[in-house]
Amino acid sequence: MDRNKLLKLTETYGSPLYVYDTDIIKGQYKKITSAFSKVKRVKINYAAKALSNINILKVFNSLKSGLDTVSIQEVKLGLLAGFDPKNIIYTPNGVSLKEIEDVAKLGVQINIDNLSILELFGQNNPKIPVCIRINPHIMAGGNSKISVGHIDSKFGISIHQVPHIKRVVENTGMRINGIHMHTGSDILDIDTFLRASEILFEVAKQFDNIDFIDFGSGFKVPYKTGDISTNIEELGTKLSKRFNEFCKEYGKELTLMFEPGKFLVSQSGYFLAKVNVIKQTTSTVFAGIDSGLNHLIRPMFYNSYHQIENLSNPKGRERYYSIVGYICETDTFGSNRRINEIAEDDVLCFHNAGAYCYSMASNYNSRYRPAEVMLYNGKDYLIRKRETFDDIIKNQIEVSL
Ligand SMILES: *Cc1c(COP(=O)(O)O)cnc(C)c1O
Repeated sequence: MDRNKLLKLTETYGSPLYVYDTDIIKGQYKKITSAFSKVKRVKINYAAKALSNINILKVFNSLKSGLDTVSIQEVKLGLLAGFDPKNIIYTPNGVSLKEIEDVAKLGVQINIDNLSILELFGQNNPKIPVCIRINPHIMAGGNSKISVGHIDSKFGISIHQVPHIKRVVENTGMRINGIHMHTGSDILDIDTFLRASEILFEVAKQFDNIDFIDFGSGFKVPYKTGDISTNIEELGTKLSKRFNEFCKEYGKELTLMFEPGKFLVSQSGYFLAKVNVIKQTTSTVFAGIDSGLNHLIRPMFYNSYHQIENLSNPKGRERYYSIVGYICETDTFGSNRRINEIAEDDVLCFHNAGAYCYSMASNYNSRYRPAEVMLYNGKDYLIRKRETFDDIIKNQIEVSL
């Protein structure tokens, strides 16, 4: 995105600031749907937890995307954004039977990931079809902090427990209408992913009236130059062919589903922050910004890399910096980064700030969460105002001592 435009937005709306370019979101959505154009029924359910501002959800609804949710609050946000409950899938982990039943009452597709709740839900609601989340015990690559498909993972019903699922179905008279997996790992090796898909097909065969197979997510996007990303065209070609074959075998036109978050929104986001202080130490030069792990925790939480650019001095000499936050913790955004010379008050831009950035922000150190701006059809819209002191105290109850 144009550097001057980002600087102007920072002037208008203040710093720190999140900016989302919806043209990029639309482009990514198109990429994924085009890759699977050979499959008759395809449904992309955007994973709301990546970036859950209601206006972003509305953009997805306008694209005819579905919504993947993990809490009843995300379901309610989706409904508020105008989604038809039929286009929302609810894939929780470790939530109560009560919450699942409350969501089912809203008409949303339920996806259950453990046998105990499956049995209770089936007994109480035999008429409501449910999807089951399978753990195929396959690692498609990536690090174990984000991978949720390994043998010790808390997610999904083990592939080895399918006979037990069938027994629950028989005992309760419930119907399984979908088979799901989400391994959480990055799809780098397409053949490994296809192997996991074969496992899902094997499971699907054992249920006689399913409507869809949901392959979860794991689409990787580049965060730095030279990063490998998922070859979506290759995945589309190979999986579409196999999926169509499977539908023939199964004797029914099934819907192929995916639920990407990062792929759809990561690159649309820019996080803009101002430099408060330049500090030379014996080992490095720190640039301390007016933000911290309270606004963008991914570098500290996942050790993830976000490219950092100095918008204010694009032609300046390149020097080495450690970019750090103002929180009283070690909150390093990037160490030893080569960046155009930084001065106090310069505006830095963090790339790939669309997914899991604002949605993971907090009030730690009693700081305000930043504002969010959306670019839509060439115009900028403030879609969330910056917090104020009222937000910090609004739920606190002062006791007179
Ligand atoms: C988080 C999540 C996703 C999205 O994952 P990305 O890596 O952002 O694409 C999809 N499905 C489920 C069940 C999830 O929990």
